[in-house]
Amino acid sequence: MTKTISIIVPCYNEQESIPLFYAAVEKVAATLPDHRIEYHFINDGSADQSLPEMRALQQQDPEHVHFISFSRNFGKEAALYAGLQAATGEYVAVMDVDLQDPPELLPEMLHGIEVEGFDCVGTRRTNRAGEPLIRSFFAKQFYKIINHISQTEIVDGARDYRLMTRQMVNAILEMSEYNRFSKGIFSWVGFDTKYLEYQNQDRVAGQTSWSFWGLFKYSLDGIVTFSETPLAIASFIGFFSFILALLALIFIVIRALLFGDPTSGWPSLVSIMLLVGGLQLLCLGIVGKYIGKIYLEVKHRPVYIIKEQK
Ligand code: UDP
Ligand code: MG
Repeated sequence: MTKTISIIVPCYNEQESIPLFYAAVEKVAATLPDHRIEYHFINDGSADQSLPEMRALQQQDPEHVHFISFSRNFGKEAALYAGLQAATGEYVAVMDVDLQDPPELLPEMLHGIEVEGFDCVGTRRTNRAGEPLIRSFFAKQFYKIINHISQTEIVDGARDYRLMTRQMVNAILEMSEYNRFSKGIFSWVGFDTKYLEYQNQDRVAGQTSWSFWGLFKYSLDGIVTFSETPLAIASFIGFFSFILALLALIFIVIRALLFGDPTSGWPSLVSIMLLVGGLQLLCLGIVGKYIGKIYLEVKHRPVYIIKEQK
């Protein structure tokens, strides 16, 4: 029996890449006669000709190509979720459209699942060539920090590019949270995952939609959605400064009793007030970040809104 591989492809302003991506994957599909490949392109509110490109592909190959078009840009995480919900195959792959995720790995991934018995075969980049050095540096620090403070392991350099069994996809679909951090979700659901390694590839066309600031915010979101350690740090800072203040108070009272109280030292007093005030604001900020997440979560807004689907 031929098994279907559903490929989920989030696209945001990728008009040039879409036909190149389809051609490249079709080439690999031809080497997999026992499997049927089905595409789910997600147009994440592109402002260019991505949607017409998808419509054209769908008309050319209506049996295998599907697309979903959002009413606006909801972000890659939302696009992935929409794709996972639409996919019907026994196996599901998640792939970027810019060919930074080489389709040539698909047969090996399939082998990992069908022959070696893994539930998921993911990919990780062994280098970050062609990326700004400062970005690589911060990426490294991010993986260090999040793996330190979160129970969920996030593999350094792991891409979203992966092939999963239906069972694992169903587990991911159970996680209907609004604040989606896929790297964490893929790992949180468990299952046996094998990682294939490959060298970083350059985009075929277009340019990355991630700014440095965007990535920074994304990594903070990742930490907040998969770790409660920042809250613990906030409580620790509070407790620590309380103990310190108590000791200082005892010291000052005893000193005043023994030597009297020559009123001096208001500069130090002001410094201490500023320090404590700053710490309070910092901790409040951390708590606020979590409350913000809760706020978005309890509103139960849809993760995405579809305008057109085929
Ligand atoms: N993408 C998306 N919505 C967005 C941003 C990106 O669907 O808001 C898609 C994009 O079209 C691409 C994938 O997510 O297929 C990865 O984006 P990009 O190549 O910009 O990220 P990078 O590879 O640089 O991490
Ligand atoms: Mg890319």
